[in-house]
Formats: sequence, structure tokens, C-alpha cells
Amino acid sequence: MLKLPTLDGLKTTKAKHALQPGETGIDLHALTTAPFKAKAKRVQNFTPGAITTNEVCNLSCVMCHFNGPNAVKKGKLLKPEMVRKAMDEYPVGSHIYLASTGEFFLDPNALDHLRYAISKGLKPQVLSHGQFYTPKLIDELLAIGLRSFRISCDAIDASHYERIRRGGKLQVILDALAYINTRRAEFPDLDIEIGCTLFKTNFHLQPKYEDFWREHGVDKVHFNAEYFDMFRYRNLLATPKKRVDCAIQTYVLPSGKVAPCCAMIVYAHDHDVSWLPDLETHTLKESYDKLCDMYDDPKSELSKLCAKCDWWIMFDQDPSGHSPYFRTAVLNKR
Ligand code: SF4
Repeated sequence: MLKLPTLDGLKTTKAKHALQPGETGIDLHALTTAPFKAKAKRVQNFTPGAITTNEVCNLSCVMCHFNGPNAVKKGKLLKPEMVRKAMDEYPVGSHIYLASTGEFFLDPNALDHLRYAISKGLKPQVLSHGQFYTPKLIDELLAIGLRSFRISCDAIDASHYERIRRGGKLQVILDALAYINTRRAEFPDLDIEIGCTLFKTNFHLQPKYEDFWREHGVDKVHFNAEYFDMFRYRNLLATPKKRVDCAIQTYVLPSGKVAPCCAMIVYAHDHDVSWLPDLETHTLKESYDKLCDMYDDPKSELSKLCAKCDWWIMFDQDPSGHSPYFRTAVLNKR
């Protein structure tokens, strides 16, 4: 069920207008910049984050920091040996998210990465814009052993889709979903998910989106708030009350650098991040420890950025895992 944002934060707002969909009435950045002592929650069996292998994309989505209309496009590609090195550290049986700051299937080694992950006993999930999902590619992916598809799609109307995902077609995604669903009987463990960024224009459409994707055989829709200007957020899904610590992870970037969080993936695209650990010289576990040290040290390069970063809302989660940043609607329980 849709959780509407609470209005608790109204006490702190200066806004005089009626709240619009996705507005919580709070000054999020004031919460971010209030006095706060960061302390990494160091866990023995930390969860590695995604491996982002490639920066190239054929679309130019309006909100994309990497390939959008205002982005400086770059073309780094993570060396295949670095992908394998990172995968070797994932525990057998664990999920591994293969994403991109571009499009995963524009990585010429994409299918080899999937084969390697599956040979190591991992369960890959691919995040993609879905525009390359022909029956031929889907068949190939299923034969390799991929069972989890997450497609980024923020609209259910063709022209709305084309205004957001510039260069893509909604019908391609619908056709792909129809085809994947024809294979369910052979692959009962298939999982099809949609990732949807919420803007002011679609925030109020969440219930409609859930109905639409349910009818198209989707299992889950993940709604997320929209970031802008690198470290800022709008269209929150709930109202945060106070800043919380971030859960440090390890996200491997196309450059081979290891970032602690999604915010640093975005920041790394346009800034010098030579201070981040490098997979050439560190394991993921060593990188994790180093990133936790940086998070705890107020003088580190990371902490200076954390001081102005609103992305901590990702970690302000309720028991069901929902946060001001994110919620998942489970549509089809199989
Ligand atoms: S940069 Fe932002 S998301 Fe990353 S650790 Fe710091 S506060 Fe958290």
C-alpha cells in the first residue's frame, strides 16, 4: 500500500503554499547540515554493493548525471580482470548487482561477466534501460542463467516515457516483458522488476503505475526519490526526522576505484577521486575498511563531502526497508 509522506515536518517549514506531491514540508538540507558525528557501522560480513562496469549509454535521460543532456559523457570501461577480482570476493549464493553509470549491455564483456558470476555461484541482477531486450538477447541471458531483470522505466505513457528516457521507446520494454513472461513456465524463479524515479510529474501516479506493471507481469516496482545538483534530493517518500549514519558498501566504478555509496558514484564522474581505494591495489574488504575509516574521520576527503550530502536518507529505513528515498511495491507474489 502506498505510504504517503507524513506532514510532521511542517513545523519546520517556511513554505507557505499547499504541499505538492512528493513534498514533505521539511528542509532536508537543514537536517543534513545539523551537528552530527558520523560513525561507520562496521560489519564483519559487509555487503558489497554493485559493480558498475561501463559509462557508455545510447540514451540521454533527463535526470542522468552520466549521459543526460547536461552531462559530460565519458567512456571508461572496467577491466574484465577487475570485474572477476571483485566477483571472487562475493560469498557464494549472494546477489550481485551489475549496473552501469551507462548501459550494462553496452559493455562488450557484459555476457562474459554474467557467465563468470554464475560460474562462481552468484545470483546476478542486471539493471538496464531494457532497450536491447530482444527475444534473442533474452533467450541468451536465460541460457546463461540470469533470472533477475530490473528495467529502469519512469512512465507508463509512450510520450511521457520519451520525454524522460530520451532516445528510448516504451513499447520495446512492454514487448520485452511480454516475451520474458512467456518463458515463466520454464523458469519459475524468474524475477522481473521496474525501477522508477519519482518526479513531481509522476509522484501522484504511483498507484496507477503499480496497476499497470502488475498487468504486464512485473513482480516488483521500486520507487525512488529524485536527486539533483549532485547531493540534494526532492520528491521524498517519507519525512526524515534526523540524520542517520550511512551503511558503507563497496561500489566498483568503471575506473577501478571503489566508492562507499551511490553519492560517490555520481560525484566521481566529474571530480578527482584519486583518494578512493583502488581495486588494482586493494581487495573489496580492504577497501571497505578504508572507507569506514574515512567516514569516521572528519578531516578525510570523504567526510568533507558527507557534510553536505543528503543521500543519507537512503539509510533511514523502517523495518520493511522503506525510506524517504525508496519503497518497493510487491505486485505479484509467486
Ligand atoms: S557521501 Fe553521502 S551517501 Fe556517501 S557516505 Fe557520505 S553522506 Fe553517506
